[in-house]
Amino acid sequence: MNVVDSEIVTSILLKHNYQLTETIEEADIILFNTCSIRDKAEQTLLYKLDYIKHLKKNKNIIVGILGCMAQRLNNELLKYNSVDFVAGTDSYRKLPNILEDILNKKSDKVNSTDFDYYENYEDITPEYKNKISAFIPIARGCNNMCSYCVVPYTRGPEKSRNINSIIKEVEYLSSKNYKEITLLGENVNSYYFEDIDNNKTYNFANLLEIIANIDKNIRIRFTSSHPKDLTDDIIDIISKYDNICKHIHLPVQSGSDKILKLMNRPYNKEQYLNIINKIREKIPDCAISTDIMTGFCDETEEDHKETLDLIDKVKFDFGFTFIYSERSGTHSAKYLKDNVDNETKNRRLNEIIDLQRKYYLENNQKCIGKIYQILVEGQSSKNENVNKNQENNEISNNEWFGRNTNNRVIVFNNINNKVKIGDVIEVKVNNCTSATLLGEII
Ligand code: SAH
Ligand code: SF4
Repeated sequence: MNVVDSEIVTSILLKHNYQLTETIEEADIILFNTCSIRDKAEQTLLYKLDYIKHLKKNKNIIVGILGCMAQRLNNELLKYNSVDFVAGTDSYRKLPNILEDILNKKSDKVNSTDFDYYENYEDITPEYKNKISAFIPIARGCNNMCSYCVVPYTRGPEKSRNINSIIKEVEYLSSKNYKEITLLGENVNSYYFEDIDNNKTYNFANLLEIIANIDKNIRIRFTSSHPKDLTDDIIDIISKYDNICKHIHLPVQSGSDKILKLMNRPYNKEQYLNIINKIREKIPDCAISTDIMTGFCDETEEDHKETLDLIDKVKFDFGFTFIYSERSGTHSAKYLKDNVDNETKNRRLNEIIDLQRKYYLENNQKCIGKIYQILVEGQSSKNENVNKNQENNEISNNEWFGRNTNNRVIVFNNINNKVKIGDVIEVKVNNCTSATLLGEII
């Protein structure tokens, strides 16, 4: 979401004759698009502001903080000498005016963080960074109020984008030969739009089907799905269209019913497992990934074991694991106790990661010998695991990578630079690590 927000901000400013610099040192204006989801994300910005302080000593630079941290901490951030303005998640269109006021010395410090339900970015073509794969935001904000989460406060209530503007953007990307789009929303599956002009309503399943029919050569992904919103209709549409990727990211957070209740996640372990069974019945080759949070308030060893048991049952294909980070102002910060000690949180995190990796590896091993179509994304960053496997795989230093429909990364040797970014090719998988498949072009 932040990537696409930055693309939108770039597009707005380029239209107002600002230019992008290659390096931060060349810039006269520095904008930070920020994240508040965990404390660590916020600390990253504060650390960067320290560096900016030094740059500002030698040059007159305007510094603005955008996004979730601006929304959440506004006046607190303005106390930093190095910060000139904060612009929240509904303020991107106001940036040219804010900058003009500061440049013309009409304002000293600016706080622009009001929520604006009607603010939208529908008629702005983002300055897409990637030339084959684009993110398309279809909804902003969130109403779910999970007890630990800062998003409803930083991004405001959920609003779905006009379907006609989404269709227009997909058609534009199709005309530019884009090969992949990812529909984005905090709860992408709760998309709902009433087209008053045509007296029609559209839910996510309707939207997905319309988009799948626009250009059969564009692969479609979406994220994130909330278990409460992943309906049978959506699962049916995914199974029906080859160009809708067979991968669902379905954050579960915990395997304990008690913890799920405390988190205000409106499902229990059994219901989650039922959804997984349904997906596997209707889309047998679908990869499933998840987010898990460990060390939430009052999480006991029993609760932790429930999470491990859920992992044993689902055998996720990949996922993200986080330690609970208390966010001030949220329900859990106000009414629950962050009472799991750090050592226990870290131990549980490691146990979850170890178990997850075991299944990632097992699932990847099942891919050995199979042939997949992949979209070539570029040269592979030489990660350690891949290097370790090079000796056995004759993969030399011309490693490239792409992703298959299941979002599995496949690394291959691009002999004589036979293929280029954006090509769709077939590869045969010969080996794997827990994170990557290793294959050859066929
Ligand atoms: N809307 C998405 C999640 C967006 S945030 C959903 O509900 O699935 C991405 C992930 O960050 C969440 O799934 C959760 O696992 C994690 N997260 C959110 N708030 C957190 C917090 N306070 N501490 C630690 N992890 C958190
Ligand atoms: Fe946060 Fe829950 Fe909304 Fe996801 S669904 S953004 S975790 S409040």
